[in-house]
Amino acid sequence: MDELKRELADLVRDSIDFITTGYRTSNSGHGENTEDDIKTGKSDEDLSLNVSSVSRRTTGDKPPGVQSEPYSESYNEKEKSLGIIAEEIANCQKCGLYKGRLNPVAGEGNPDADIMFIGEGPGEMEDIKGRPFVGRAGKLLTKMLAAIDLTREEVFITNIVKCRPPNNRTPHPEEVNACFPYLKRQIEIIQPLIICCLGGPAAKTLLNTRVGISKIRGTVQKFGEIPVIPTYHPAAVLRFPDKYKRAVWNDLKLLRDLYKELKSGT
Ligand code: SF4
Repeated sequence: MDELKRELADLVRDSIDFITTGYRTSNSGHGENTEDDIKTGKSDEDLSLNVSSVSRRTTGDKPPGVQSEPYSESYNEKEKSLGIIAEEIANCQKCGLYKGRLNPVAGEGNPDADIMFIGEGPGEMEDIKGRPFVGRAGKLLTKMLAAIDLTREEVFITNIVKCRPPNNRTPHPEEVNACFPYLKRQIEIIQPLIICCLGGPAAKTLLNTRVGISKIRGTVQKFGEIPVIPTYHPAAVLRFPDKYKRAVWNDLKLLRDLYKELKSGT
């Protein structure tokens, strides 16, 4: 119980800190996994790309209860297609991670999201609840989203692997390779304007690079034609706030500004 109280106190403090100490926009907001995201930055050259062209998407009426931009006319189709993938994931045994999972975590959010957040894999709480980013790091992710005027319901949140690796270890390459087609299909269906990778393993997988997160964060990369902004994982921020919080805030501002730019068509 004392441990739980301490965790809650830490979380409240972290959240307030994130919102107030120079990390504030007009309001305040972002997923989960741990140590592997903190094992950052061991490589090569810094990469920095300019966003030139981004394909625009057809939009239609806004569903009730949603604060963001109008939704795609194919919202229902996207929801259905994502549901089919979630069912496949629920029955998947393509890698050994299925053996230890309590629940698969396909991802959740707006099927027609403009922004996708991609972490490494489900942690303990995610495995228990079958939902992405619902532990302490997930709560911080929600605050990070709010800091750039986004809600979890507006974006789509998922991971590179959909089943929890034992003891939150980094997924093995064969596990990532087995699971990656699900993520690829999710991206193809959602067609986000921007992807934000949370942590080194997610960035390395999506961008097919060996460049460490400390080198590649704060830049705009590409997955196909989709701009990708890599940043540190919220778990890294919780663990080493003095080291990572400022950088994450700068990356969130980059994401916010790019999103505005893309939405305004400039
Ligand atoms: S991690 Fe992915 S590939 Fe492996 S069993 Fe789970 S859903 Fe299937």
